[in-house]
Amino acid sequence: MRCLPRRVALALVSIAVGCASTPQDDIAWRLVDANPAVGTTSSDEPPPVHLQRAASQAMRGPARAVINDDTRYTFARPGLMLVARYPRFDIPDADRFELNIALPRPLQGCDHLLAQIALARIASPNPTARDTRWVVGRCIGTPVASRLLVQAPVAAVLRGTTADVWVQVRPTPPQMTERRRFLLEHVPQGARLDFSYGIESPGWEPGAPAVTFSVGVDRESAPLFSARVDPAADPAQRRWFDATVDLSRYAGSSITLTLQSAQAREITAGTPTVPVWGDPVIVVPGTRERKAPRNLLLISIDTLRAASVSAYGRARPTSPFFDALAREGALFEQTVAQSTVTPVSHMSLFTGLYPSQHGVTGPRRQSNVFLYPTMAEVFRANGYATAAVTEDGLLQAGLGFERGFDRYLESKSPNVFAPVGQVTTTFAAALEWLQAHRTQRWFLFVHTYQVHAPYTPPPQYEGLFGDRDIDRYEEEIRYTDDQLRELWRGIGALGLTDDTLLIVTSDHGEEFGEHGVIRHGSHLYDETLLVPLLMRAPGRIPARLRVSEPVGLIDVFPTVAEILGLPGLFFPDGRSLASLFEAERPPVDRMRWFLARRDLFAEAWSPFRMLADHTFDRAWHPPLFALRTGQRKLIWSPERAESPARVEVFDLDGDRDEQHDLAASASKQFSTEIDALRRYVDAASAASGAGAPPSAPP
Ligand SMILES: [Zn+2]
Repeated sequence: MRCLPRRVALALVSIAVGCASTPQDDIAWRLVDANPAVGTTSSDEPPPVHLQRAASQAMRGPARAVINDDTRYTFARPGLMLVARYPRFDIPDADRFELNIALPRPLQGCDHLLAQIALARIASPNPTARDTRWVVGRCIGTPVASRLLVQAPVAAVLRGTTADVWVQVRPTPPQMTERRRFLLEHVPQGARLDFSYGIESPGWEPGAPAVTFSVGVDRESAPLFSARVDPAADPAQRRWFDATVDLSRYAGSSITLTLQSAQAREITAGTPTVPVWGDPVIVVPGTRERKAPRNLLLISIDTLRAASVSAYGRARPTSPFFDALAREGALFEQTVAQSTVTPVSHMSLFTGLYPSQHGVTGPRRQSNVFLYPTMAEVFRANGYATAAVTEDGLLQAGLGFERGFDRYLESKSPNVFAPVGQVTTTFAAALEWLQAHRTQRWFLFVHTYQVHAPYTPPPQYEGLFGDRDIDRYEEEIRYTDDQLRELWRGIGALGLTDDTLLIVTSDHGEEFGEHGVIRHGSHLYDETLLVPLLMRAPGRIPARLRVSEPVGLIDVFPTVAEILGLPGLFFPDGRSLASLFEAERPPVDRMRWFLARRDLFAEAWSPFRMLADHTFDRAWHPPLFALRTGQRKLIWSPERAESPARVEVFDLDGDRDEQHDLAASASKQFSTEIDALRRYVDAASAASGAGAPPSAPP
């Protein structure tokens, strides 16, 4: 390993202890991409699929399996089919209710189906509870007029409420045994098979059989690996298990690997089980030249406004870790979020696209991007290990946020609009994954809601700054900043800090009544629109660099792609900022010139607008659009019952707080910007209208 010089003065963050030599590994094959045939008895030998390097380049395709809100790639299987949706269903005050659903043609003549029932309480103005369960549904009627009968369980919090109900189904797995075989020629020196395995929740009910997972090699009589899982009997086994099989003894020869899951006994129709393999990969010692940075750690502190970070000028010591980072790398003084709503803004971060282009314009809108990959998909296709740890459930797997992540771990809050900050749990899970994947090239996304309302700092931080809402909010920031330093310290202990491009940012800020509104989502003033953005990569990004020209979250993915050398990407909206880090003056000057003149847009899609007295503005209608060009800022408000559409215009040079709307007095001076904003609004409205992707189940 190359040891970079460390500066003692920055020991606070550069805590990398020693420079222990970390071996480097590469993911050579992803078995889920190989799409093998499936044998259905223990003696069935389906033709082995020949593993070729190219198979690991698949961007999309394999299915996903979910255990405990932990989503992983698995082998191809039938997808979920939506068979019924009731947008406003009166849930009885009982522990279950019956649904009788007409089935579409492909499911006619079924016997039983696995049914996923998702309920989301409809409460004004926000849903306050949701629950998703698997049950076994019985097919009734005739083979040409089949209906599905399900007993839908109801969590206590949802009884007697009105809910949005989704019913999706998949066939019950038909066989007791599944065998998949893989031909691996010329096993490399030091190769190993990494994988996980587990049983999805339909197999947790009493009476569901145990399953034995095994890995064998054709020339051996005994399996190289075998484990029995019985989650129906043992609740502690309702999780993923990780395992490794050493293949180094077969170096130089050709082997056929068999992955088998076998049920302990025949299942009955009422107690199916669903064994799944989680993303098996063959890992080999790395051969590529090791250069820094090679990994990406992208951290999003949800709801962190730039103005509350001391590195951005807040007079209080809210963020000593951010401040230290600013001394070690680059700080972007004016970073415009592309939205002030969590999923909308994060999808712009993940794709480099404006919201109307990627399609996630609300909490349950799915991404519609098929031409453009997400950041994680590109990393995965380039052989990186990828993982995301997120809280609360607004970055929901199924909406497209999970795309490309080998592992997508969600810690959902019971009420997604009142998230429980879980920063210590989230950071611990992130560190645990890094510990297991530290020898590979990796991309890790970490997302915490710790500073989001409700503002509840731990007791030792309470009162640090005062007792107003903004004081409590900034105490949460200080707490999160301290936890961030601990996380970075832990990564240092793994010897990874100097190999890693670290990016810390947020999805939007927070309002405290500056423009008559609190929280975030419906406004596009700078208290919710400007977020911190810091980048650190010793040797690649200069220390103490401050960039004053406006940039956007859409620029993060293009910048990452250039710094880490990810090839073949096209970004229609965002721009790489990497030339700002050059030692030569001309590219830096050219980029700054461009950034000072570029039109940057943002969109606000939240229908909820909370007034300072904590009531909601019932007349509010999204969307809202903003344009930022240099220090000129425009906000387009939609036509409403009592007022036509209008534009607010601000000159931020003399009006940083956006208090003096110049629309009436100086609109001629802003005619170029007004035209640009109108064109953007027209294009965005067209893109988000007909043909927009459907909502996803809760
Ligand atoms: Zn957010």
